[in-house]
Amino acid sequence: MKKILLIGTGGTIASELTESGLSPGLTTEQLLAFTPAVGRICHVDCLELFALDSTNITPKHWQIIVRSIKENYENYDGFVLTHGTDTMAYTAAALSYMIQDSPKPIVLTGAQKPIGFDTTDSKANLTDAFLCASSDMPGVSIVFDHKVILGTRAKKTHSKSFDAFSSINYPELGVVRDGVLLRYIQRSAALFPTFYEELDRDVALVKLLPGMGRDVLDFLFSKNDAVIIESFGVGGVPEAGGFYDCIESWKERGRLAVLTTQVENEGSDLCVYHVGSRLKNQLGVLEAYDMTTEAVYAKLMWILSLTKEPEKIARMFYSPVAGDILWPASDNMANAVL
Ligand code: ASP
Repeated sequence: MKKILLIGTGGTIASELTESGLSPGLTTEQLLAFTPAVGRICHVDCLELFALDSTNITPKHWQIIVRSIKENYENYDGFVLTHGTDTMAYTAAALSYMIQDSPKPIVLTGAQKPIGFDTTDSKANLTDAFLCASSDMPGVSIVFDHKVILGTRAKKTHSKSFDAFSSINYPELGVVRDGVLLRYIQRSAALFPTFYEELDRDVALVKLLPGMGRDVLDFLFSKNDAVIIESFGVGGVPEAGGFYDCIESWKERGRLAVLTTQVENEGSDLCVYHVGSRLKNQLGVLEAYDMTTEAVYAKLMWILSLTKEPEKIARMFYSPVAGDILWPASDNMANAVL
């Protein structure tokens, strides 16, 4: 029987009703008591890390999670992390960069309704997560509502339905149907994982709005090493408002601008329109292409902890890690691990 480590961090799955609303209070042992069927799938040990609504999760918590998995890596065949759904996609992306090439499954799950409620998705999600963690599916993934989603491609797309997560610009890895994992994609595995524990926390994100000026950008650039600009459509910034000058002047002071899009599917392509191409061709701005904002944020924190050299940053940013980027096809398809 496979040995799986269950790491608890809180979230709705472990929540109980209090006077001020749902709050995580159940231990991992209590969660397991609700799902006796797991005992037929694998042997489980429990590690209680936090009891947090995932709104309170920060990069510091990611570092603690990574350290816990690293310390226990040799002793287990797979890992299940219970986590709130609100920031689960960020944590899944962060773990995908901080634990690369893991041959063992690292599965995140949670729920939209607490495990003690009459109607709940908790039990199915938890049982499916153990099933996947006991398989030979490598790397970081989210298992939720019977879907298996690659860690770098997940996004919370429903705030209430059980179908909380979508796989963005990438097929689902598989489904769990009646206790059987059907894998659509077999990702290749390495022999050993590489752990990265450092992150550069000075990465910010701004959502562009019609009529917005450069002040917010100036402020964010003054405080951060990189600013992700969630722009419109395939990407660009307004011609009025001083955006180009702003980006250029902060670039000269060593700050990095990364363009992405507010549109959920299909990603950016800065060279299509005049409002974007100048950014790319004259100002050397990086763009997300088909990466999710969650992945871009985590990837920049990981890269900037390793280098501040612009050329190296660009090379690492466009190099696929854990299936996070496929586009631009010509450069990256050859290296992409599907
Ligand atoms: N607010 C909760 C959390 O993210 C929501 C959930 O878990 O579904 O912790």
